[in-house]
Amino acid sequence: MKAEYREDICAGWDQVFSIDEPLYETKTDHQHLIIFKNRYCGRVLALDGVVQTTEADEFIYHEMMAHVPILAHGGVRRVLIIGGGDGGLLREVLRHREIQRVVQVEIDLSVIDLCRRYLPNHSQGAFDDPRVAVVIDDGMHFLQHTDARFDVILTDSTDPEGPAEVLFSERYYAACRRCLAPGGILVTQNGVAFLQLDEVRMSATYFSRLFRDWHFFNAAVPTYVGGTMTFGWASDNPHLRQIDGETLGARFARSGITARYYTPELHRAAFALPQYILDAIGKPKG
Ligand code: SAM
Repeated sequence: MKAEYREDICAGWDQVFSIDEPLYETKTDHQHLIIFKNRYCGRVLALDGVVQTTEADEFIYHEMMAHVPILAHGGVRRVLIIGGGDGGLLREVLRHREIQRVVQVEIDLSVIDLCRRYLPNHSQGAFDDPRVAVVIDDGMHFLQHTDARFDVILTDSTDPEGPAEVLFSERYYAACRRCLAPGGILVTQNGVAFLQLDEVRMSATYFSRLFRDWHFFNAAVPTYVGGTMTFGWASDNPHLRQIDGETLGARFARSGITARYYTPELHRAAFALPQYILDAIGKPKG
């Protein structure tokens, strides 16, 4: 019988991949990890039963998580990534030449090591960039103890269970706010809203207590099944969410980045949310 990887999306609904080539499976100090090859999706990483990233569609998530806040800000020098052990987000962040420093705080060294080895197309050497400092720590612990300030903080985490649960808490968002430079932006992985609406609702409640401006933007990532992927956005500068298309276009052209998903038009459109999400976050008028 052909080997399969079955992801339990919710009761009565699974996503099944054929394992065309098993690459690695282990129990790390923090989570169960499997990397395998699927003929359509390429190499796939799953942690604790949840698909994290695939070679076929990772560009959508990573481009949107990196380029939307960095181009909206327009002057980013220092970035903090929490999680993101596969290195795909780090790769996209580093494509912005003006960025001087990226600190990546990942709780599980095994994810970084195994992804560098079995998923090298994600990081493409990013971990060797001299602008990068990798810290092996819990993101919450790091934020509570650092004096550093960042223009952009990106939470590229697993879902709110196990080690990542704390990364969806009010005290985590408060710690992020403390570590943002004036006018800084926090962007978070907030799940597939159709299936994880309570998580979006909860983050919205916490953002609204902590930040002057907050919202969500979305992108359809095929292997995060169940609808569009939701990214949280929080900042004390409301202007950054309203940057006009001309300015974004000029910044994007200046960056010299060739993207496969991101466009300045999509950037602006991504903040338009379906009514059921607007209702859930208490912004019925958008
Ligand atoms: N893009 C993926 C998604 O949306 O599901 C996330 C990919 S990335 C591999 C997630 C990483 O978050 C994992 O490597 C995991 O070890 C890390 N992580 C989970 N909890 C963490 C914590 N408290 N501090 C730092 N990293 C954490």
